[in-house]
Amino acid sequence: MEKNLLPVLILREMVLFPSRELRIEFDTMEDKQLLSLIESCYQGTMLVVTPVDFLETHFELGELPFLGVEAKLKLKMEMPNGKTRIILEGLERRSVLGYHVEDEITMAEVSFFSEEEIDPKEESAYARSLLKQLHRYIKQVPYISNAILSEVTDTLPLSKLTDLVADMLPTTFSRKLDYLNEVNPVERVKMLRNDMSQDIKVFELEQAIDEKVEKELAESQKEFVLREKLQVIKKELGESNDKDDEINTLKQRVNALKCPPKVKQRLKLELRRYEMASPNSPEVGIIRDYVDWLLSLPWSYQTRDVSSLPEVKRILDSTHYGLEKVKDRILEYLAVKQNTDHSKSPILCLVGPPGVGKTSLAMSIAKSLGRRATKMSVGGIHDEAEILGHRRTYVGASPGRIIQGMRRVKTTNPVFIIDEIDKMTKDIKGDPASALLEVLDPEQNMSFADHYIEEEYDLSKVMFIATANYIEQIPLELLDRLELITISSYTEYEKLDIARNYLIPRALSEHGLTEIEVQFEEAAILSLIRFYTREAGVRELERVIASILRKIVKHFLLDKTIASCLVTSSLVEEYLGPKKYSYTPFGGDILPMEVTTYQGNGTLILTGSLGKVMQESAQIAFSYVKSKAQELGIPIEFMEKSDVHIHVPEGAVVKDGPSAGIALTTALISLFLDQKVSKTIAMTGEMTLRGRILPIGGLKEKVIGAHRSGIKEIYLPKANQNDLEEIPDDVKKDLVFHLVDHYQEIYRSLFASKKKKQEKRKELLTYR
Ligand code: ADP
Repeated sequence: MEKNLLPVLILREMVLFPSRELRIEFDTMEDKQLLSLIESCYQGTMLVVTPVDFLETHFELGELPFLGVEAKLKLKMEMPNGKTRIILEGLERRSVLGYHVEDEITMAEVSFFSEEEIDPKEESAYARSLLKQLHRYIKQVPYISNAILSEVTDTLPLSKLTDLVADMLPTTFSRKLDYLNEVNPVERVKMLRNDMSQDIKVFELEQAIDEKVEKELAESQKEFVLREKLQVIKKELGESNDKDDEINTLKQRVNALKCPPKVKQRLKLELRRYEMASPNSPEVGIIRDYVDWLLSLPWSYQTRDVSSLPEVKRILDSTHYGLEKVKDRILEYLAVKQNTDHSKSPILCLVGPPGVGKTSLAMSIAKSLGRRATKMSVGGIHDEAEILGHRRTYVGASPGRIIQGMRRVKTTNPVFIIDEIDKMTKDIKGDPASALLEVLDPEQNMSFADHYIEEEYDLSKVMFIATANYIEQIPLELLDRLELITISSYTEYEKLDIARNYLIPRALSEHGLTEIEVQFEEAAILSLIRFYTREAGVRELERVIASILRKIVKHFLLDKTIASCLVTSSLVEEYLGPKKYSYTPFGGDILPMEVTTYQGNGTLILTGSLGKVMQESAQIAFSYVKSKAQELGIPIEFMEKSDVHIHVPEGAVVKDGPSAGIALTTALISLFLDQKVSKTIAMTGEMTLRGRILPIGGLKEKVIGAHRSGIKEIYLPKANQNDLEEIPDDVKKDLVFHLVDHYQEIYRSLFASKKKKQEKRKELLTYR
């Protein structure tokens, strides 16, 4: 290894690469002396070293780096300002074996690097790849002049090429030092490529950001200019202020609105669109309506619930007579709801015939809880858009009835009454029942999506109460979610009490009358119930009471001498005309039946708008009688040679259901045996082909209806025994009930005994 001693020149924050030049200026005496010495004693040759730490003013020998570049002083000029400018030419990297001081000059003992041999092919591949990257770099990154391209060629040795690129690359001092300290040119290629590709990426990113910022800036400037212009144009057109004022008010309302952030954002966006839209475009109205909808929906306001159950009960009692079981169920329901997670309780559904107080009871629940109430009827709807709304693209679109109800009621926690849930129908426009399911499902309804409103609306605080006439007709999927509470028809006596204690006092006060001025005799009320109304509930009754009161008010006004009035049966007749109904068997009706027979071939004819199930019951009855003809004492030939016609009068009213089974059988037997059955006997029950009797529904109504029609004895399925408890005592006391399991029991009690008597008579007659 060749050794050499060289004077040392320390550079600060500057790197001299081999084969490159460096311009430096000196101004201290010390430096100038050192330079003169180098020039005179060492033919201008020296070792240039750059310590890492460039802030230091004085270096210990041990702190100097072990790598330097041998350099030659190429030019030295004394400047007029007293400084000395030199140009250094870098020659080769040298490794430093040691430093020492000689005549006050730092000297380094250096040796050559014997560079590793690189395969020429590999070397040129590295060179080319470096150049390629450099071309990309220069193209992309504007911080470097492309003058460098004239200096670099792939014919340069890799070592020089890398030093050249490292020198030209705009990078930090310490990174340059890293390049210098890396003695292996292949490694240097890697470092350089890496750095360049990093820079390219950063620059691309920078550029993207710049572009975006510029674009945004341009747009906001554009918008500003356009808006200013718009103002001027509007002023010229004389249309400015109204809309601006309106927009300002809308903006204030939007800002003040307490609603989910998404809704607020949406509102702001729509307002912007509204502002920009020309006043003549059709869009204006659509946006305005939409904004109005969002602004007028209750998003956060809710009323405080009354939590005291006794108070709730007091209010329910004050509006509705009786219904003890129903009220208990409601109170239980409310108690459970208060005690558990509010949103998860099932939906109440009040079921019963019209006019028994379902809707008004639901209203009363709302009142008793201190909540507001809103109502929608879903009877007859067959389009799910009625519930979910129409999309805004639809002409004349509006939200569905749920949202409409919420807007009307203005609180987020109302009692929402869904009337006639059993009267919805399905068709091609979708299934409203499944739409309603979304509304009622506590898992989904906190984010109810009306098609018009688009933004989610929270229905989870709403208390839904449904009403229905028939359980059977409630869509099955909904039935699952409902907690059914049945309200059955009222008896005559219940109606009397309701009229006395609730309907009449209410109607009086509505007509501005007092109980001193107008009194109703009990007989008059009963007459209204029996002869002027025909209903399970009391709606009609309420109406006729009101109509009597109207006439009384008129009377009072026409004749000021009259100050009071006692409503009697005859007054009722005078005011309302002759009795409308001979009896009032509604809500459970007796069905009279006619049967006749004539010569034929055993055909069964049925008339009177009988439904399918009822027709089947008649066929079953017919088959039963035929198959048991012998036991029943009916000559089978006679049956086979006759046609039978069964007619159930009031042909226009559709009648259906299986509960006429035993009555049909009885009618047939009565016909064939030619034995009458007393008019005061009624019966209800489904019958099988073999004569077993199955339970039926609605027993209470049926029994009350029968009672009112003057029936004295009733045959009914034994399995319905429990239902008898519900029947009011004043009805029960007038009736004899026969609980039966099999038709034979009816036969025995109605026909067999008489038949025996008849036979005996026949026998006697023949003997005579
Ligand atoms: P539904 O919804 O069952 O058809 P409504 O709730 O409309 O019946 O009731 C009809 C009318 O009868 C209402 O004015 C209601 O106040 C009255 N009503 C019904 N049942 C009772 C009752 N038990 N006590 C007092 N009023 C009643």
